[in-house]
Amino acid sequence: MNGAKVMGSDYDFNAALSEYVRMLEKRVRELEAERAELRRELRRYKMELDKLLSPPLIEAIVLSVLPDGRVVVKSSTGPNLVVRVMSDVDISKLLPGAHVAINQRGSAIVEVLPEHEDPFVKAMEVVERPKVSFEDIGGLKQQKQELYESVILPLIEPELFKELGVEPPKGVLLYGPPGCGKTLLAKAVAGMSKATFIRVVGSEFVQKYVGEGARIVREVFKLAKKRAPSIVFIDEIDAIAAKRLDVGTSGEREVQRTLMQLLAILDGFDSLENVRVIAATNRIDILDPAILRPGRFDRLLYVPPPNREARVEIFAIHTNRMKLSKDVDLEYLASITEGATGADIKAIVMEAGYSALRRRAREVSMNDFLYAVEKVMKKRKRPYIESTEVGHEEEIGYKESSSKETSVMHI
Ligand code: ATP
Repeated sequence: MNGAKVMGSDYDFNAALSEYVRMLEKRVRELEAERAELRRELRRYKMELDKLLSPPLIEAIVLSVLPDGRVVVKSSTGPNLVVRVMSDVDISKLLPGAHVAINQRGSAIVEVLPEHEDPFVKAMEVVERPKVSFEDIGGLKQQKQELYESVILPLIEPELFKELGVEPPKGVLLYGPPGCGKTLLAKAVAGMSKATFIRVVGSEFVQKYVGEGARIVREVFKLAKKRAPSIVFIDEIDAIAAKRLDVGTSGEREVQRTLMQLLAILDGFDSLENVRVIAATNRIDILDPAILRPGRFDRLLYVPPPNREARVEIFAIHTNRMKLSKDVDLEYLASITEGATGADIKAIVMEAGYSALRRRAREVSMNDFLYAVEKVMKKRKRPYIESTEVGHEEEIGYKESSSKETSVMHI
């Protein structure tokens, strides 16, 4: 039939037919490819649907493995549970502290989760070491010396202590009125020793990590040991270590558990080795004596408000980069700011700077400083410091601070 022609025309029927078949075959191939694509899409959506429909697993932490093979876990939803283990779970990985997933009903461990650092705890590690050194801190000579001997030296030259058989203190507690340099000292220690610096704020246990305080404390020290040599700085320790008056409410019991965990860790000294603990508080008077017992925070350092000499140094530190006019007399400024804390002096220097800026001056003058002293010292309410009668230059006479002010107290 090749070459069949429709009467009276050149139309080749067979050629047209085979062209049509070819076109149909191509279309079939296209549709098959489309079907395969749609199948893949369907599978993907089915999988997504399965994920949406499957109940979430519950995270839990292994507490112990019972002799009969069941496991006691602390579920993240609250209670401790005794659960079974699915047969495909590697039992050797079920060690106390391991993170596992249990099914919705809380009846079995279905998976051992990969080890991960708690993001809250991870965030506490100060990655960038503070660029503060003892030179940036005015006064506090004795405190610097003691911190050097009890925290920095054991970290950088541990063999010195081993040779002599001297045990460095486990924990150092800095106490004193606010704004006098406790945090600054801890930062300087971290900056000067090459240690990892982990900062924990006591009040965050009460506000942020409710119900998890004890675990966070454990994790913090786990991280500290892993990154040793390291310094754990616990700011506002009074928030978790206040005297136990009445542990009636669940919140109080929770704070108690956090404190007990901290004490237990401090007691296990051997395991601490390259981990030093520094804590700070404004309220040593309300601290639980248990925390101050030997073997825990056994070195207490009083960080007093600066005396005149220290105030001169603090003024010099904070005006270091400032362009001062010749009439600026830091000695005189120190003499009229009795009762000022380091933070007050920093505020005075900033205020003086702004005053000069307002005048569009090229240098900061003594008048800028006198205005700033007046403003800052009058406004500040400093309940911790008795003598705050400052403000009128004529009335201000320099009075040497008592020696108690600068002495280091050991309890
Ligand atoms: P708080 O108990 O309120 O945390 P603190 O004692 O830890 O107070 P810091 O945070 O160390 O006080 O001090 C606040 C600021 O005051 C510091 O950032 C620093 O600029 C300044 N300052 C305090 N004391 C000194 C000092 N001795 N030398 C230089 N600056 C100081």
